[in-house]
Amino acid sequence: MSDIILETEGLTKEFRGFVAVSDVSLRVRRGAIHGLIGPNGAGKTTCFNLLTKFLQPTRGTIRYEGRDITGMKPAEVARLGLVRSFQISAVFPRLSVLENVRIALQRQRGGSFDFWRSETLLRAYDRRASELLEAVGLAGYEDLTAGELPYGRKRALEIATTLALDPVMMLLDEPTAGMAHEDVDRIVALVKRVAEGRTVLLVEHNLRVVQGLCDTITVLTRGRVLAEGDYASVSRNPEVIAAYLGT
Ligand code: ADP
Repeated sequence: MSDIILETEGLTKEFRGFVAVSDVSLRVRRGAIHGLIGPNGAGKTTCFNLLTKFLQPTRGTIRYEGRDITGMKPAEVARLGLVRSFQISAVFPRLSVLENVRIALQRQRGGSFDFWRSETLLRAYDRRASELLEAVGLAGYEDLTAGELPYGRKRALEIATTLALDPVMMLLDEPTAGMAHEDVDRIVALVKRVAEGRTVLLVEHNLRVVQGLCDTITVLTRGRVLAEGDYASVSRNPEVIAAYLGT
């Protein structure tokens, strides 16, 4: 098994001639927590959408587990274990927290929403859903509707529904965006925990979040890779500092 789980070569995305992602070559090591950071407009979200196949690149290739996935559909790459965190809009607000995770489990196992197929199966799903909720710090919240959860807890639910898909590699898009300090610390600890035995690629605007969390950080600006290394090296890099200060 190769040490590199995900690799891009010359990844480029143009929108009507505007180059949002330009010639990005990225190598993510198996088992790493890899941060993809950069100021607003750097191309992080576009990269994220390219990697999870929500966008098709203009040029370049993406290899996952040694396989060329450039032409695949999102559901196909998800089946291979490359899973992106659901957006909050994908959480069903009127269903309970437990039901949300149960549905994710059922989609993983059979793609069916028919939860009343068998009592035994239902109980097995609920047991697994409870375990996942416990793992993300949502034990005790099972019966609330997802819509009632405070914002930070919704992001934790989103991570639980992602874990239900049994990812080999998780892509998380700004899991702490818009959060208060104490929620940020909780999600950082959670990402560390769920990263055990997996690979995580984290798209993040906030440098503080990737500090102490990421083994390797790739800094993007204007669609290009500006720097790569551990937090100590990229945070001292004058070009990175300038990019963050907008100079
Ligand atoms: P980031 O996530 O780092 O803030 P984005 O990937 O969202 O950056 O955007 C990078 C650049 O590409 C921005 O200048 C943005 O305006 C542009 N862009 C993103 N999506 C589109 C699109 N669908 N059409 C045109 N331009 C886009």
